[in-house]
Amino acid sequence: MSLSRLLSRACSRLILPAAALIAIPAAAHAGSEVNIYSYREPKLMAPLLKAFTAKTGIKANMIFASSGLVERVAAEGRNSPADVLLTNEFGLLVQAKDAGVTQAISSDTLAGEIPAVFRDPAGHWFGLTRRARVVYASKERVPQTAITYEELATPKWKGKICIRSGQHTYNISLIAAMIAHLGPVKAETWLKGVRDNLARKPSGGDREAVRDVASGQCDIGIGNTYYMAAIANEPEHKAWADAVRIIFPDTETWGTHMNISGAAVAANAPDKANALALIEYLASPEAQALYASANGEYPVRDDVPVSSLIASWGTPKSDALPLADIARLRAAASELVDKVHFDQGPGS
Ligand code: FE
Repeated sequence: MSLSRLLSRACSRLILPAAALIAIPAAAHAGSEVNIYSYREPKLMAPLLKAFTAKTGIKANMIFASSGLVERVAAEGRNSPADVLLTNEFGLLVQAKDAGVTQAISSDTLAGEIPAVFRDPAGHWFGLTRRARVVYASKERVPQTAITYEELATPKWKGKICIRSGQHTYNISLIAAMIAHLGPVKAETWLKGVRDNLARKPSGGDREAVRDVASGQCDIGIGNTYYMAAIANEPEHKAWADAVRIIFPDTETWGTHMNISGAAVAANAPDKANALALIEYLASPEAQALYASANGEYPVRDDVPVSSLIASWGTPKSDALPLADIARLRAAASELVDKVHFDQGPGS
C-alpha cells in the first residue's frame, strides 16, 4: 500500500515533504528513501529531517498522527511501508514492541551514543531525548530548593499538590519507577499519601499544573520540564513560568525520573539500512542539539549542550533505573492508581 493511500485514510494532519510522499508507492521505495510514522510533531522534526537528507542524500517521508500509529503498523502487517516509528514518549515504544511491530537492531554506533538505561536491551527501541518529571514549585511559597518524590506523600504537603491524571502515561512511568525503588507495599502507601495531599482532583495536563501553582491553587505541581520551556516562550503565559521554579527530585538519592522520546525500526521495514541511518543520525551530536533547542528537552547523551534557559534550571541527575525495568511495572502502576482511587482525589 502506498503512503499516499495510508495518508488519505487517516493520518491526514500533516506530511513531510508532501509532494514526495504522495508520489511514491511503497514498492518503488528503495535505496534513497526512508518512511517515518511519527507521533512527534512535524514542526519539531522538519529541521532534523532536512539536515538528515542534506547529510545522507536519503529522502525522509513522514506521516504524523497524535494517536493510532502503532495500531496502524500492526494492521498493515507485511505490506507496511513504515521503516521507522518515532514516538513522543516511552510507553508507546513499549506498546510497539509488545505489538510485534518493531525489530531488533544491533548498532555499535547507537550502543556507543545512547546510554544503556535509555534503550531496549534487546535492541527494539532507542531513546532520543529525555524529559525530566520534576516538581514545579511556587517561588513565593516554597523556599526549599531540594525535594524527593517520597516527600510528596508527607503531611507537610497536605492540600498543596497539583497533578494530572494518575493514569496518564507520564505518571504511570513515574509510579512504576517508585514501585521499582520502594517495592509494591511502600509504593502503595506512598501513592495514597500523595493522593491525600492533592489540592484538587487530578486533571488537566502538566501545563495546568504550572498555571495552578502560579494562581495559588497549589504550592507544587508535578510535570515535565519542557512544558516550562514552552510556557516561558509564550508572552501571554510567561507570568506562570515566572512564578514557578523547577526542583529536580532525588538529586541526592536515586536521581530524577526521566521519560524518553525515541525511535524503533519497523518489523517489516522496506529499507532497514535507511531506517538505521536515520536513527543513528538522530542520536548524533548535531541532531541532539537541534532537539534540545527546538523542544526544550534534554539530549539523551550528556556531551551535548542545552539552551541557556534549560541550563539555568540546573543539571539533573537521571535515575539510573533502566527504562526496560520500568516497562515491566507499568501495568502494576496502572492497577495501583485504580486501587487507591488516585483520580478521585484526597481521602478517597
Ligand atoms: Fe508532553
